[in-house]
Amino acid sequence: MTLTIAYIGLGGNLDNTLELLCSARKAIGAVPGVREIAFSSYYRSTPMGNINQPDFINAVMAVETSLTPHDLLKALQQIEHSHGRVRNGQRWGPRTLDLDLLTYGVEAFADEYLTVPHAGLSEREFVLYPMAEIAPPNMTIPGIGVLRDLVAACPKRGLESINHG
Ligand code: AMP
Repeated sequence: MTLTIAYIGLGGNLDNTLELLCSARKAIGAVPGVREIAFSSYYRSTPMGNINQPDFINAVMAVETSLTPHDLLKALQQIEHSHGRVRNGQRWGPRTLDLDLLTYGVEAFADEYLTVPHAGLSEREFVLYPMAEIAPPNMTIPGIGVLRDLVAACPKRGLESINHG
């Protein structure tokens, strides 16, 4: 059985997002054929421009998996859906969880369902900084570049790590 290391981006922007990301993390780690190997800090990024939009919270998880990239994506989509309506105070809020397959081993490909590495990864501070926290220092993002260089070229735009007590 081949095991591949994949990186998964987690994010959302409602009040209960931290709770939701914790729950998603557990759900991902519980998928048969998936094992968590690292989880970044949680990061908050304040949306610029629209003051009415809540902060985003993001994190990156590294897993070891025997699933194919498409089966892993399916599992992530099921978890998104199963977290689709979550308790938000007294009310049931809208879908708030976004799970992205950022990288899958050394593979670089795109088809109608899946682009790996994830498109946009190289410009997203909320992906690059948490990823760099848990990835090997010299990690190369297949077809894109060395993670450390991508981080150095990406402004932080107010991104800050937050304590999760
Ligand atoms: P979004 O709503 O922005 O999360 O986009 C979801 C869509 O992006 C789905 O239809 C996926 O099939 C597609 N997609 C393509 N590449 C990826 C990826 N690396 N990770 C997650 N979704 C992807």
